[in-house]
Amino acid sequence: MMTLQELRAAFDAREIDTVLVAAPDMQGRLMGKRFHAAHFLDSGYQETHCCNYLLATDMEMLTVEGYASTSWAKGYGDYVMKPDLATLRPVPWLPGTALVLCDLLDHHTHEEIAVSPRAILKRQVARAREMGYAAMAATELEFFIFEQSYEALRDGGTDHLTPISGYNEDYHLFQTSKEEPLMRVLRNGLYGAGIPVENSKGEAEAGQAEINIRYDEMLKTADFHVITKQATKEIAHGLGKSVTFMAKYDHRRAGSSSHVHQSLWTLDGQPAFLDKGAEYGMSAVMRQYMAGQLAHAGEITALLAPYVNSYKRFCVGMFAPTKAVWSLDNRTAGFRVCGDGTKAVRVECRIGGADLNPYLACAGLLAAGLAGLEGAMELEAEMRGDSYQNAQAREIPKTLRHAADLLEGSVMLRAAFGDDVVDHYTRAARWEIEEHDRVVTDWERKRLLERG
Ligand code: ADP
Repeated sequence: MMTLQELRAAFDAREIDTVLVAAPDMQGRLMGKRFHAAHFLDSGYQETHCCNYLLATDMEMLTVEGYASTSWAKGYGDYVMKPDLATLRPVPWLPGTALVLCDLLDHHTHEEIAVSPRAILKRQVARAREMGYAAMAATELEFFIFEQSYEALRDGGTDHLTPISGYNEDYHLFQTSKEEPLMRVLRNGLYGAGIPVENSKGEAEAGQAEINIRYDEMLKTADFHVITKQATKEIAHGLGKSVTFMAKYDHRRAGSSSHVHQSLWTLDGQPAFLDKGAEYGMSAVMRQYMAGQLAHAGEITALLAPYVNSYKRFCVGMFAPTKAVWSLDNRTAGFRVCGDGTKAVRVECRIGGADLNPYLACAGLLAAGLAGLEGAMELEAEMRGDSYQNAQAREIPKTLRHAADLLEGSVMLRAAFGDDVVDHYTRAARWEIEEHDRVVTDWERKRLLERG
């Protein structure tokens, strides 16, 4: 990490000349500007501006209609980008570069924009604090590495992706030695950027990797997550390779997840999820928190699985869950209790894909957990065994269409986030569905063109 004074010293020493001023958008991408360090130090550190369509676009940067926050009728004006100087850090994998994350504020009132993902999470974290808890989380991140560069894939299409390994590389140290030109630079780069990397490993598919960052307060964890994604893409690009965080890039292969490990701690640093005398060491607080997440699992699914593609990951026998149930150290369950009986006792939500926006995912999970605490909700019985085969177990919504309906109708999320936020992200989900519905795919042509 870096203070403004340290940035100035690094600029004077000609070590840093560029500052990336970035805000996470609805998709969890880093959007912003590249500042000359002199201008950032002169005035940019106070604030800059961006077009407010950044929180109303899709992947393609379309001006999507149907948002209350902005539109052609409202003139697509500006938001203030307010650097959060606590996030200022060097970017060791880019030459002479530092990065700062921003909050998005109203141009006139300087109040936080309600639909900004960072603001949404900050509000839930503050709610937890008011209830006496620090909300901690870690978001594991899986992705695929391909031999081709993004440019080669753009020119040649994505039909013949070449994963970096020829076999399932789960925990393989030999295969991952071959990937060190990327992964070692990534681990060390993140470490140098003040992101507490724990480890990387091969994952359970050819070309699949995972990186783990140490758990921290949820806002920091979400910040770590978006920077880690950006770093992975940038470092891969520099090596002429590509990576993807799609939840399911090929229906014949496993998908990529982003499991969210969560725990609450008292404000004086005691693990509020631990009660040594109770079953699995799970305190009443943990049981209520999990009860809230189970009760509201369907309503928060669109925040954990935001695209049509996300739902193709939920399939039987591939380590992705299909049921929103809880179980001790059971990888078939949507909610897996880990670290039982220790101060690391926590719940791992396994529903989210690597395509999730970590601010929205953490905010949704936390809001559901806090609703469990507020309602002193009772935790249902543990599901034991193979939840894939359990016909009684609560299903995870199978489509974005269903998840969007549940999001829209969520009284819990409307109370926690506000109607404006729920309506905004329901619109985002529906737009993804509309876009998907109108596109004719290769699959349809292959199936129907000759024989249909
Ligand atoms: P797994 O069995 O899922 O591989 P790991 O031991 O790799 O579990 O831990 C997964 C993540 O859980 C790590 O990022 C770690 O920092 C995080 N973690 C550990 N303890 C806690 C906790 N008390 N609360 C939240 N996350 C935690």
